[in-house]
Amino acid sequence: MKAIRVREFGGPEVLRLEEVPVPAPGAGQVLVRVRAAGVNPYETYIRSGAYALLPALPYTPGSDGAGLVEAVGAGVERAKPGDRVYIAKCLSGTYAQYALALEEQVHLLPAGLGFQQGAGIWVPYGTAWHALVHFARARAGETVLVHGASGGVGLAGVQIARSMGLTVFGTAGTAKGLELAAREGASRVFDHGKPGHAGEIMEATGGRGVDIVLEMLANVNLAADTRMLAQNGRVIVIGSRGQVTIDPRELMVRRGSIRAFTLWGITPEEEKEVHAGVGSGLLDGALRPVVGREYPLAEAARAQKEIMEPGAYGKIVLLPPET
Ligand code: NAP
Repeated sequence: MKAIRVREFGGPEVLRLEEVPVPAPGAGQVLVRVRAAGVNPYETYIRSGAYALLPALPYTPGSDGAGLVEAVGAGVERAKPGDRVYIAKCLSGTYAQYALALEEQVHLLPAGLGFQQGAGIWVPYGTAWHALVHFARARAGETVLVHGASGGVGLAGVQIARSMGLTVFGTAGTAKGLELAAREGASRVFDHGKPGHAGEIMEATGGRGVDIVLEMLANVNLAADTRMLAQNGRVIVIGSRGQVTIDPRELMVRRGSIRAFTLWGITPEEEKEVHAGVGSGLLDGALRPVVGREYPLAEAARAQKEIMEPGAYGKIVLLPPET
């Protein structure tokens, strides 16, 4: 089969398409014929060697994907050949024609969703759900600012928060991104590249502040976020690409808090809740992954380069060759 292999850590050029054997599913494992693989920023951090957890070389990147079950190992009960599924973490990497996953890492893809959308479920929706439900403990009627609402996690956050009955504000850096965040459920949108956008957000709350911030770029925004909080407000740090200085007094006067996580630390119980909650939203159409760009698998380097550039518009997905 064709698969992207990384033989040394480095720039996007280390992502090379190679011919490798198709893995065979062992007991409790499922082999999926991948029709689309999701591209996430963390895959670029790993590829460059700048991540806390690094795989042994060589490896195939990717934890998100969707396709058809090709074969199952002994004892597998929840999946059978031919099932349309999405993958949420896997053993062998989804940037490939086939991916090997544990039975519990494979979930039925609702009929209304395409494979490209299925490739945009686990990291984006898992992260946004974990942030809103487990970390922010969001309640209907609260106001959430999704700071970075045009990308994969941000749009998932907008849709989930909207479906939970929150008022959603979103930010983006382009007109297209702002339109998309509004279309997907943000009642007010703000340009995070515009000086003074924090003042506009405060004004939109009538000076009260927001209850929750889902923060995609904490090293840039965290200090301003603490000043935008309502009483008992919570900033949830999802993304950060550097250091930042904050004034703790801004939190003290607001009884505010900052919490942060990586999705890798999710507990098995929390993970089950995520799949139940997200799965039901996907079934009833409240949650609908937005795919902005599709590239052939061979163009993985281009996809990983573009995901780190400004101008996000939903997910970037890779399409492996069908034969
Ligand atoms: P993505 O699809 O590339 O989207 C990036 C988002 O960040 C876009 O909405 C982008 O907006 C926005 N952004 C750019 N500059 C910003 C600024 N100054 N202020 C606020 N937002 C800004 O990436 P993603 O998959 O949504 O992931 C978002 C971040 O979360 C990444 O840093 C990623 O590594 C991290 N993440 C963390 C976890 C975790 O476990 N903690 C899980 C998933 C993702 P424009 O392009 O419109 O400017």
